[in-house]
Amino acid sequence: MQPNKPNILIIGAGPGGSATSLFLAKKGIPHTIIDKAVFPRDKICGDAISGKSVYVLNRLDETIIPTFNTQKDTFIESWGVKFVAPNGKAIDIPFKKEIGNNQLPPGFISKRQHFDFELIKRLDKNYANFIDGAEVTSIVRTGNQFSVTYIKNTVETTLSNIDLVVGADGDRSIVGKTFASFKKENKHYCAGIRAYYEGVEGMHAQNFIELHFLPEMLPGYFWIFPLPNGMANVGAGMLSSEVSKRKVNLKADMLNAIANNPNISARFKNAKMQGKIQGWGLPLGSKKRELSGDGFLLVGDAGALIDPFTGEGIGNALYSGMLAADSIELAIKANRFDAATLKQFDVAFYDRQWDELKLSHTMQRLTKFDWLFNFVVNKAYKNKALRETISCMFEDIDLRAKLRNPLFYFKLLIND
Ligand SMILES: Cc1cc2nc3c(=O)[nH]c(=O)nc-3n(C[C@H](O)[C@H](O)[C@H](O)COP(=O)(O)OP(=O)(O)OC[C@H]3O[C@@H](n4cnc5c(N)ncnc54)[C@H](O)[C@@H]3O)c2cc1C
Repeated sequence: MQPNKPNILIIGAGPGGSATSLFLAKKGIPHTIIDKAVFPRDKICGDAISGKSVYVLNRLDETIIPTFNTQKDTFIESWGVKFVAPNGKAIDIPFKKEIGNNQLPPGFISKRQHFDFELIKRLDKNYANFIDGAEVTSIVRTGNQFSVTYIKNTVETTLSNIDLVVGADGDRSIVGKTFASFKKENKHYCAGIRAYYEGVEGMHAQNFIELHFLPEMLPGYFWIFPLPNGMANVGAGMLSSEVSKRKVNLKADMLNAIANNPNISARFKNAKMQGKIQGWGLPLGSKKRELSGDGFLLVGDAGALIDPFTGEGIGNALYSGMLAADSIELAIKANRFDAATLKQFDVAFYDRQWDELKLSHTMQRLTKFDWLFNFVVNKAYKNKALRETISCMFEDIDLRAKLRNPLFYFKLLIND
């Protein structure tokens, strides 16, 4: 490595890899970013882009979100979430307590083929050498450096003398598999499926995303997320340990709910599925993992950073990419890429996000108790102040901590 001119390679150009590249470019740090796909490409996802994503993109460049807001064909603004309890009662929770004029929306929904492509279009050619359509097939570490081999158009190429590799290659990451110690564990992993539909009726006027905890699908959940042009992303998720324990067929259960659930089926009477139901895994951040080691960092799904309650992973992919760029800058200044130096990335990420991930894990476990869920939603249905408290919980981590406290439920019980 030449002092202060390391060879940096990011593998994967989804939200995690793109964010790492964009923030590195902002710091003037040259690098290569490689992806097996040619963009725009599809990614199996619920397509909901939360407040955390909006926050990171604003940190990158304040013009991005206002631009998305004008792209009405590909981005739809979302102002809240509807929770439907197993007993069919629903509560609407706005992401912001008050919605004023000229406010930018707190979240969006956009097909990943559009959202990810918007990030790719912004990669800075002055600093980012982007190689697409190139699948990394092996990574070998010799001494302090890596050789990375990829195949593009059947031609094999090896990049040598790489000082730092960022694994942003999602679930099943080749970087994670080759260098990190963690293994897939079903209790920290979720199975997910999704399909696109047109003509689903009864969407919320402010495009609230909908999470339905249907009795026939517990402890999994079913979602309906509105998309532009009358489309919807419809899907279901369940912890993999429960899928195997109960021998669940998620696809069959989702189609059964759409055809027969009294609160769902009427809304699909004129709906048509576009394409087919597709599945992919969600590596959950309910357990702390090693996110770095000698010469490598893992961001996004490669580091298993998905919120265990909401299934949201785009936010933490972007956020970890932003912090990875900070850690790389510090490592370049120190002219060291060893595990001890890169460890600051794990510390920075978990210092900021572990409390939230832990709470979401608690909430994920609470959904197993359908009576508790019914009880809270019944109360919130009748009680505006409680609805507002829950709404604030989305923005305020300390308030959300109340959900772990038995006193919270006791107070609900005695306050009728
Ligand atoms: C069914 C489902 C629903 C979901 N719903 C939501 C939701 O509504 N909101 C939300 O925030 N999150 C959701 N998620 C999670 C979200 O999709 C992920 O957390 C997010 O995509 C992580 O981004 P990433 O950049 O880490 O990985 P990815 O988006 O997976 O990107 C990885 C990239 O690496 C490339 N790659 C992989 N291997 C190689 C290789 N060997 N060589 C070169 N390139 C490679 C891939 O082509 C890809 O472009 C959902 C996930 C699933 C499965």
